[in-house]
Amino acid sequence: MAKRVNTVHTVEDLREIVADWRAEGHLVGLVATMGALHEGHTSLIGIALEHASRVIVSIFVNPTQFAPNEDFAAYPRDTAGDNLKVAKSGAHLIYAPNNEQMYASDFSTQIFVGGVSDGLCGAARPHFFSGVATVVAKLFLQAMPDITVFGEKDYQQLLVVKRMVRDLDLPIEIVHGPIVRESDGLALSSRNAYLSEAERAVAPLLNRVISDIASDVGEGRAVAESLEAGRVRLDSTGFLVDYLELRGAENLAPITDIAERPARVFVAAHLGSTRLIDNVAINPSTEQRRT
Ligand code: AMP
Repeated sequence: MAKRVNTVHTVEDLREIVADWRAEGHLVGLVATMGALHEGHTSLIGIALEHASRVIVSIFVNPTQFAPNEDFAAYPRDTAGDNLKVAKSGAHLIYAPNNEQMYASDFSTQIFVGGVSDGLCGAARPHFFSGVATVVAKLFLQAMPDITVFGEKDYQQLLVVKRMVRDLDLPIEIVHGPIVRESDGLALSSRNAYLSEAERAVAPLLNRVISDIASDVGEGRAVAESLEAGRVRLDSTGFLVDYLELRGAENLAPITDIAERPARVFVAAHLGSTRLIDNVAINPSTEQRRT
């Protein structure tokens, strides 16, 4: 059986343990999560363990990245399940601060990362990325890891965190974690638990549509036409599309011409009351690459 993993709730306790690790010469990794862990999260822990000899998993459902009409109260929480999964994953410590620990009653600072937070999820959820950037900056400064792993599932978030780290000269290496999917293509997400049986059956279409767009565009089909065909498929299957776009993979600049690679297809869509996001890379055909 996997060994129990220690959980700390305060910055003081966290820093004491990290200081001991550093004195012993360890490299420290951090995987930031909102809990309700699944194999997407544990894959990031596995990657962190390849880069660091001690790995912290933070679990904090961050209220400032939810708008009042969003699912903060309903967001799945599973402390017992999370403890087991972290223990099995081989990580060394859970950091689970409470709200008071993270946000003083007169908390007044916000980090806003421009550019990469424009459009896509930043358009529909304007509060979201400054909530993420602020809490991630706090977690970085609390734990002071050498490396951290963020999932490509939340690709725009990954770029926002990378831009913040570069702009503020934070001495932390950011490693990308590839998207972990169900066998039918649906990207794992804590929010998949909200889907009804009927919605769950339809949900994999989201990935099929963007994968088809990626291969069509990769083979030279016009971008606008491909996106429109994808949107029609999603609309006619009960998805309410928030965005479906092709963007540059490095800075999320809008792309209309496949020559401006590397690119990814990004989608967010509501299925019933659940908002799902996904993205895939475009791998241009050899033919396209030559042109
Ligand atoms: P969350 O708990 O949803 O805030 O996610 C915590 C981290 O796990 C983020 O870096 C996410 O991008 C990553 N993550 C979530 N789902 C997946 C997945 N299916 N595959 C890979 N990484 C994921």
